[in-house]
Amino acid sequence: MGTIYMDHAATTPLDARVLEAMRPWLEEWYGNPSSPYAAARRARAAIDEARERVAGLIGARPSEIYFTSGGTEGDNLAVKGIAWAREANGRHLVVSAIEHQAVLEAARFLERRGWELTLLPVDGNGLVDPDAVGRALRPDTALVAVMHANNEVGTVQPIADIAAVTRSRGVPLVVDAVQTAGLMPIDVDALGCDVLVISAHKFYGPKGTGAVYVRRGTPIEPLLHGGGQERGLRAGTESVAGIVGLARALELACAEMDQVVPGLIRLRDQLAAGILERVPDARLNGHPTQRLPNNVHVSFAGVDGESLLLNLDLAGLAASSGSACTSGSLSPSHVLLAMGMSRELARGSLRLTLGKANTEAEVRQAVELIAATVERLRKKARSTARML
Ligand code: PLP
Repeated sequence: MGTIYMDHAATTPLDARVLEAMRPWLEEWYGNPSSPYAAARRARAAIDEARERVAGLIGARPSEIYFTSGGTEGDNLAVKGIAWAREANGRHLVVSAIEHQAVLEAARFLERRGWELTLLPVDGNGLVDPDAVGRALRPDTALVAVMHANNEVGTVQPIADIAAVTRSRGVPLVVDAVQTAGLMPIDVDALGCDVLVISAHKFYGPKGTGAVYVRRGTPIEPLLHGGGQERGLRAGTESVAGIVGLARALELACAEMDQVVPGLIRLRDQLAAGILERVPDARLNGHPTQRLPNNVHVSFAGVDGESLLLNLDLAGLAASSGSACTSGSLSPSHVLLAMGMSRELARGSLRLTLGKANTEAEVRQAVELIAATVERLRKKARSTARML
C-alpha cells in the first residue's frame, strides 16, 4: 500500500499545471525584474500580471497586493507592520487565542517590548464572538487579528460580523486566510478585512511564496528594508516563478472550487462518521457546520497523539496532531486548550485534512487504520497501567 496523504493543511503537492506556468521563469526568463533590459522587463510584466490576477480573484485592486515569502512573513508583516505604523495612536493589540503561531508569536514579540496584548477567547467550537471583539477594543488598540479558518480544528470565523465591529471603531482587522484561500471564495470587501494573508503552498502552489492584501489607506511599515521592491513594503528580489505559480495556483483553485469542494465535503463527512462509528470514545472537534470542507479533527481519550501519529505513519497514513509547526512538541495545542479541552484529551488528538486526490477507498482504509491503531494503543496503555 502506498502512503495515504491526509495532511493538506500542512502543505499540498504542486499542481503540474502550476509547475508548467513557473518553468519558463526559472529556465528561460530568469532576469532580475528590477534590471533594465528586455528579459528583465518580461519578468516585471509577469509579476504585474500575477498581481492583477490575484487581485481580481479576491476582489482587490492590484495596488493592494504585495508578494511575500509565505504565510509566516505575511502574518509578521501584518501584525508588526501595522502595530509600528500606528504606534503613535497606542500600543494595544487584540488577537484571537487560536491564531497560528506566526500571528501569536509576532504579537508576543511586541508584548515583550511593552505592548499590551488582549487574547480573545473562543467558545467550545472554536468560534470568536464578535461582541467580545467590541468589548476588547480600546482607544489605543492598534489592530485586531482573527484568522479566517483555524488550521487545527478548521472552524471558520464570522469575519464579516467581526469586521463590522472593528470598522465602526476605526481599527484595522488582520485576517490570516492561509487555510481558506483556494477552498472557500474570498472577497476582501465581503469579508470587510483591512489585511488578508495567503500562502501558495496550501493551494497546490509552490512553497515559499505568499501574498498580502493591504486595503488602500491602511498604515503599515515594512519588515524588510533594502531595495524598493513591492512599492517599498517588501524589499528583496522577487521570486518571479513563485509569484507566477501562486497566481496560477489560485486561479485554478478558484476556477475548480465548485467541482472540488463538494467532493471534499463528502469525503470529510464519511471520514468523520467512520471514525466516530468505529472508535469508541472519539470526539469530533471544531464547529459542526462552520468548518473547512477538508478538515476532520478528532480526540481519543486515553491515547497519546504522538504515538498515534507515529504508528499511523508506519502503517502508511500521513496525518498531523495539530499544526505542522507544533507537531513534535509535547505540549498540548493552544487551540484545543482555548476551546476548553483538558490537557489530557488534547494530547490524544488527530488532524486529517483532505485534498483533491484523496479517494473514498483511502477514506475507508484510513478509518480502519485509525480504529485498529487506537484500539492497540489503548490496550497497550491499559496493560502498562496494570503493571505499574
Ligand atoms: N497561518 C496559518 C493559518 C497556517 O496554517 C500556516 C501554515 O501552516 C501559516 C500561517 C504559515 O504559512 P507558511 O507555511 O507559508 O509560512
